Amino acid sequence: MALFFPTTSVPKAYDITLPMLGAMGVQGLILDIDNTLTTHDHPTPDERILTWLDQMQAAGIRLILLSNNRPSRVEPFAKKLGLAFEADGKKPLPGGYRRAAAAMGLDLRRTAAVGDQIFTDILGANLAGMPSILVEPFQIEPFFRFRLKRFLEKKILCSYRKKKGREKA
Ligand SMILES: [Mg+2]
Repeated sequence: MALFFPTTSVPKAYDITLPMLGAMGVQGLILDIDNTLTTHDHPTPDERILTWLDQMQAAGIRLILLSNNRPSRVEPFAKKLGLAFEADGKKPLPGGYRRAAAAMGLDLRRTAAVGDQIFTDILGANLAGMPSILVEPFQIEPFFRFRLKRFLEKKILCSYRKKKGREKA
Protein backbone atom coordinates (compact mmCIF):
# COMPACT_ATOMS: atom_id res chain seq x y z
CA MET A 1 0.00 0.00 0.00
CA ALA A 2 2.84 2.40 0.81
CA LEU A 3 3.69 2.64 -2.90
CA PHE A 4 0.31 4.30 -3.44
CA PHE A 5 0.63 6.82 -0.59
CA PRO A 6 1.80 10.38 -1.24
CA THR A 7 4.29 12.06 1.10
CA THR A 8 1.65 14.70 1.74
CA SER A 9 -1.56 16.04 0.22
CA VAL A 10 -3.14 19.47 -0.27
CA PRO A 11 -6.45 20.58 -1.81
CA LYS A 12 -4.90 22.33 -4.83
CA ALA A 13 -1.37 22.91 -6.13
CA TYR A 14 -1.57 26.58 -5.08
CA ASP A 15 -1.91 25.37 -1.47
CA ILE A 16 1.70 24.16 -1.60
CA THR A 17 3.68 26.70 0.44
CA LEU A 18 7.38 27.56 0.65
CA PRO A 19 7.59 26.54 4.35
CA MET A 20 6.07 23.18 3.39
CA LEU A 21 8.72 22.65 0.70
CA GLY A 22 11.40 23.87 3.10
CA ALA A 23 10.35 21.27 5.68
CA MET A 24 10.49 18.57 2.97
CA GLY A 25 13.90 19.78 1.80
CA VAL A 26 12.48 20.21 -1.69
CA GLN A 27 13.95 22.71 -4.21
CA GLY A 28 12.17 21.64 -7.38
CA LEU A 29 8.72 20.46 -8.44
CA ILE A 30 7.76 18.07 -11.22
CA LEU A 31 4.25 19.17 -12.14
CA ASP A 32 1.48 17.16 -13.73
CA ILE A 33 -0.77 19.27 -16.00
CA ASP A 34 -4.27 17.86 -16.46
CA ASN A 35 -6.39 18.30 -13.36
CA THR A 36 -3.34 19.52 -11.41
CA LEU A 37 -2.74 22.94 -13.04
CA THR A 38 -6.03 23.18 -14.94
CA THR A 39 -8.97 21.03 -16.02
CA HIS A 40 -8.38 18.19 -18.49
CA ASP A 41 -7.12 19.48 -21.88
CA HIS A 42 -7.84 23.13 -20.95
CA PRO A 43 -5.31 25.33 -22.80
CA THR A 44 -4.57 27.77 -19.95
CA PRO A 45 -3.88 27.32 -16.24
CA ASP A 46 -6.17 28.54 -13.51
CA GLU A 47 -5.46 32.20 -12.51
CA ARG A 48 -4.53 31.20 -8.92
CA ILE A 49 -2.14 28.62 -10.32
CA LEU A 50 -0.39 31.31 -12.42
CA THR A 51 0.15 33.46 -9.33
CA TRP A 52 1.42 30.47 -7.38
CA LEU A 53 3.84 29.42 -10.14
CA ASP A 54 5.27 32.97 -10.15
CA GLN A 55 5.70 32.92 -6.37
CA MET A 56 7.48 29.56 -6.49
CA GLN A 57 9.86 30.71 -9.23
CA ALA A 58 10.54 34.03 -7.50
CA ALA A 59 11.59 32.03 -4.42
CA GLY A 60 14.02 29.95 -6.50
CA ILE A 61 11.91 26.76 -6.67
CA ARG A 62 12.69 25.02 -9.98
CA LEU A 63 9.72 23.80 -12.01
CA ILE A 64 9.23 21.33 -14.85
CA LEU A 65 6.12 19.80 -16.42
CA LEU A 66 5.76 16.02 -16.80
CA SER A 67 2.59 14.81 -18.48
CA ASN A 68 1.33 11.57 -20.00
CA ASN A 69 -0.68 13.63 -22.47
CA ARG A 70 0.40 14.07 -26.11
CA PRO A 71 2.97 16.68 -27.22
CA SER A 72 0.29 18.69 -29.09
CA ARG A 73 -1.43 19.25 -25.73
CA VAL A 74 1.64 19.68 -23.53
CA GLU A 75 3.94 21.84 -25.68
CA PRO A 76 1.66 24.89 -26.19
CA PHE A 77 0.72 24.79 -22.49
CA ALA A 78 4.38 24.67 -21.43
CA LYS A 79 5.32 27.48 -23.84
CA LYS A 80 2.63 29.72 -22.36
CA LEU A 81 4.20 29.21 -18.94
CA GLY A 82 7.77 29.34 -20.20
CA LEU A 83 8.53 26.03 -18.51
CA ALA A 84 10.54 23.01 -19.62
CA PHE A 85 8.41 19.93 -20.19
CA GLU A 86 8.22 16.27 -21.09
CA ALA A 87 5.12 14.96 -22.90
CA ASP A 88 4.22 11.26 -23.29
CA GLY A 89 5.83 10.90 -19.86
CA LYS A 90 4.79 7.25 -19.40
CA LYS A 91 4.04 7.77 -15.70
CA PRO A 92 4.13 5.71 -13.49
CA LEU A 93 7.38 4.51 -15.06
CA PRO A 94 10.16 6.26 -13.12
CA GLY A 95 12.28 7.32 -16.12
CA GLY A 96 10.48 10.60 -16.75
CA TYR A 97 10.84 11.66 -13.10
CA ARG A 98 14.57 10.93 -13.16
CA ARG A 99 15.05 12.87 -16.39
CA ALA A 100 12.99 15.78 -15.02
CA ALA A 101 15.01 15.97 -11.78
CA ALA A 102 18.26 15.78 -13.77
CA ALA A 103 17.02 18.53 -16.12
CA MET A 104 16.53 20.76 -13.05
CA GLY A 105 19.97 19.78 -11.76
CA LEU A 106 18.50 18.33 -8.58
CA ASP A 107 18.89 15.14 -6.61
CA LEU A 108 15.71 13.01 -6.49
CA ARG A 109 15.29 13.73 -2.78
CA ARG A 110 15.33 17.47 -3.41
CA THR A 111 12.53 17.13 -5.97
CA ALA A 112 8.84 16.45 -5.38
CA ALA A 113 6.24 15.29 -7.88
CA VAL A 114 2.87 17.06 -7.80
CA GLY A 115 -0.20 15.41 -9.32
CA ASP A 116 -3.84 14.39 -8.98
CA GLN A 117 -3.62 10.69 -9.77
CA ILE A 118 -2.44 8.00 -7.38
CA PHE A 119 -1.83 5.35 -10.05
CA THR A 120 0.32 7.57 -12.25
CA ASP A 121 1.68 10.66 -10.44
CA ILE A 122 2.10 9.25 -6.93
CA LEU A 123 3.04 5.67 -7.79
CA GLY A 124 5.64 6.95 -10.26
CA ALA A 125 7.20 9.29 -7.70
CA ASN A 126 7.43 6.45 -5.18
CA LEU A 127 8.99 4.15 -7.79
CA ALA A 128 11.51 6.87 -8.64
CA GLY A 129 12.28 7.34 -4.92
CA MET A 130 11.15 10.95 -4.62
CA PRO A 131 8.64 12.75 -2.37
CA SER A 132 5.19 13.44 -3.76
CA ILE A 133 2.30 15.82 -3.16
CA LEU A 134 -1.20 14.68 -4.08
CA VAL A 135 -3.74 17.34 -5.10
CA GLU A 136 -7.49 17.05 -5.57
CA PRO A 137 -8.48 17.06 -9.26
CA PHE A 138 -9.92 20.31 -10.61
CA GLN A 139 -12.79 18.38 -12.10
CA ILE A 140 -13.77 14.70 -12.12
CA GLU A 141 -13.20 13.44 -15.68
CA PRO A 142 -16.30 12.71 -17.74
CA PHE A 143 -14.49 9.75 -19.37
CA PHE A 144 -15.56 6.22 -18.53
CA ARG A 145 -11.95 4.96 -18.31
CA PHE A 146 -11.36 7.22 -15.30
CA ARG A 147 -14.25 5.87 -13.25
CA LEU A 148 -12.63 2.70 -11.93
CA LYS A 149 -9.38 4.59 -11.29
CA ARG A 150 -11.11 7.30 -9.24
CA PHE A 151 -13.11 4.65 -7.35
CA LEU A 152 -9.94 2.74 -6.39
CA GLU A 153 -8.21 6.03 -5.49
CA LYS A 154 -10.96 6.75 -2.98
CA LYS A 155 -10.30 3.42 -1.25
CA ILE A 156 -6.56 4.14 -1.07
CA LEU A 157 -7.12 7.71 0.14
CA CYS A 158 -9.32 6.35 2.88
CA SER A 159 -6.54 4.11 4.25
CA TYR A 160 -3.98 6.90 3.70
CA ARG A 161 -6.07 9.30 5.84
CA LYS A 162 -6.48 6.63 8.52
CA LYS A 163 -2.70 6.17 8.61
CA LYS A 164 -2.16 9.96 8.85
CA GLY A 165 -4.74 10.10 11.64
CA ARG A 166 -2.85 7.42 13.56
CA GLU A 167 0.43 9.30 13.09
CA LYS A 168 -1.08 12.48 14.54
CA ALA A 169 -2.68 10.69 17.50
MG1 LIG B 1 -3.48 14.66 -13.97
